[in-house]
Amino acid sequence: MSLRWRGVIEAYRSYLPVSAKTPVVTLLEGNTPLIPSRTLSERIGAPAEVFLKYEGMNPTGSFKDRGMTVAISKAVEAKSVAVLCASTGNTSASASAYACRAGVRSIVLIPSGAIALGKLSQALIHGARVAAVEANFDACLALVKSLAQLYPITVVNSINPHRIEGQKTCAFEICEVLGRAPDFHATPVGNAGNITAQWKGYQEYLKEGKIRKLPILLGFQAKGAAPLVRGALVKNPHTIATAIRIGNPASWQGAIHARDESHGLIHAVTDREIIEAYRLLASKDGVFAEPASAASVAGILKLAKSGYFKAYYAKKRRRITIVCILTGHGLKDPERAIKSIRVPKSLPASLSVVAKAVGLR
Ligand SMILES: *Cc1c(COP(=O)(O)O)cnc(C)c1O
Repeated sequence: MSLRWRGVIEAYRSYLPVSAKTPVVTLLEGNTPLIPSRTLSERIGAPAEVFLKYEGMNPTGSFKDRGMTVAISKAVEAKSVAVLCASTGNTSASASAYACRAGVRSIVLIPSGAIALGKLSQALIHGARVAAVEANFDACLALVKSLAQLYPITVVNSINPHRIEGQKTCAFEICEVLGRAPDFHATPVGNAGNITAQWKGYQEYLKEGKIRKLPILLGFQAKGAAPLVRGALVKNPHTIATAIRIGNPASWQGAIHARDESHGLIHAVTDREIIEAYRLLASKDGVFAEPASAASVAGILKLAKSGYFKAYYAKKRRRITIVCILTGHGLKDPERAIKSIRVPKSLPASLSVVAKAVGLR
């Protein structure tokens, strides 16, 4: 294989709905690092190796780019002149970047005041038409569906099946690096497109004989936005993890299938657990992921405490491999990081004052 990475469409062309006629719109997304975490491995309660799939390393800082390269390429192939999405932030960041590269217009509907500043700045700088709507994500997505019926524009939310196709490549990459599927694949769940896509990816690799065994999927929602855990819509979802503040997931059935067919689970984690995991990742592993991403880590730590992995180990008697998907970059939401730590106060430029302030005595 050439060392030159050419993006997920070229890397996995035969698995994707593209032909020689499809114009490939890419920012060379994918090929993100799978980082071993010693801190997490030690906290599993059984012999285990935990890896972090750092999707924040994608070009616009989230896994959404994997789906967007396919969705925008197909939109251009279909001669679409504009794309439209509702977004908790990262979809709009990704859609606007890929759309401007393709020379098509992008329109994004975001819940007013409820998306991280970094994500909003991305949509604006890439030239999207941004409507900040006084409603939550679910209502924005409903508006998007209605607009798409009235105007000739392509929806690039994960209800667009090309998004799911692109996002399944995350599972491919994990299998490539490990030489097999992990025992457990842990992921945050919001609109549930990603867990659906990842499961599809593993299933296709099994069918192609690239892996011999499927992973167990562990999905985690925020407690205040956990419709899949409760088995009922959540009218007013709330959580600090804005990327998963969703009460009516579009890929509801996909998530349930992934959970049940893999003999996995979808559980809820509290905002406090999310922030603890967020800080742990950043302060022990040196990995800065956004709060929603930390839900996967909070989830496995919670399961570890309950003896879940210990019980699995008792049956299997071999080291457990766990992959946590870190869906987006921590720099998306710097305000959250600063809020969760004490901000340094300014000091005079004096050697003794500065030395004392930074703990050098
Ligand atoms: C979109 C997003 C999610 C949720 O993914 P779904 O496919 O909607 O379940 C989680 N984390 C981040 C950072 C995201 O951008």
